[in-house]
Amino acid sequence: MDKKIIVIGSSNTDLVVQSERLPKAGETIMGTDFFQNQGGKGANQAVAAARLGGEVVFVANVGTDDFGSNAILSYKKEGINVDFIHQVDVPTGMAMINVDAKAENCIVVVPGANNTLSEKNIDAVAEGFHEKAIVLLQLEVPIKTVEYAVAKAKQKGALVILNPAPVKAISDETLRMLDIITPNETELELLSGIKVKDQQTMLKAIDILHNKGVKTVIVTLGAKGCFVSNTTLKQQFSAPNVNAIDTTAAGDVFNGALTVLLSEGMTLETSINFALNAASNSVTKKGAQASIPRLSEL
Ligand code: ADP
Repeated sequence: MDKKIIVIGSSNTDLVVQSERLPKAGETIMGTDFFQNQGGKGANQAVAAARLGGEVVFVANVGTDDFGSNAILSYKKEGINVDFIHQVDVPTGMAMINVDAKAENCIVVVPGANNTLSEKNIDAVAEGFHEKAIVLLQLEVPIKTVEYAVAKAKQKGALVILNPAPVKAISDETLRMLDIITPNETELELLSGIKVKDQQTMLKAIDILHNKGVKTVIVTLGAKGCFVSNTTLKQQFSAPNVNAIDTTAAGDVFNGALTVLLSEGMTLETSINFALNAASNSVTKKGAQASIPRLSEL
């Protein structure tokens, strides 16, 4: 397997119900609309990388239910290699999203099959970890599996990128093996234990991650772009000025896009600028995967 980008993570089906107002406990109300979308940070990042020209393998578990089968079909249509997506006897990860007329929402996420992603899934794909591969992970699957994958990928010489979302504690041993970590400001605070109020406190928080061995820290800053720090670069990169409508999945597009350019051998600076462009383009459109741009749109 000579694919260059291996995304390991979650796949969810989002069921979105719209109504004038949110129901109260015990109440039944009539809705106005219903949508079904593919989601999950792993899937969003795999789709972003594929739409932006990357050769992508997606490693995930979905259920044997129709949601799981449909998810696999949709990733295939995106040109993603689905050989390492397994269907297990647990429901596909699910997000039940209620949205009211003022866009206030109420969400229940059931990880389902995502919680079954294990060392076995990683061993199955491990022959694809090599010096020219990039392994991209997030934290919507068991942390034990993420830590195992990082170690295995590093052992085989792959470049490892972790988007620490949704944030949770990561062992020092794993942090030490990361080539790139891409927290937003909140995630940086929680990982470093430092309240980020200004540039000085942000640099202090970043240094904590460097001291634990992370080589490059990229803090995404929403409309302000991102801050990149490693031994040769300490620089803020601005995001294009756009009319932001919906920032859902902006971070996922950033990570997918960054990975594609790095996999093509581009410099970190070029890759960052491309990622900012792609992510900022995505916030001008509604939805998660629906807002992920294709290469031709950038
Ligand atoms: P997350 O969605 O993970 O919290 P951010 O909000 O930091 O991540 O956004 C990631 C990237 O998306 C930013 O670095 C930027 O490129 C783009 N982005 C997000 N919000 C905006 C915005 N309001 N205007 C322009 N670009 C944005």
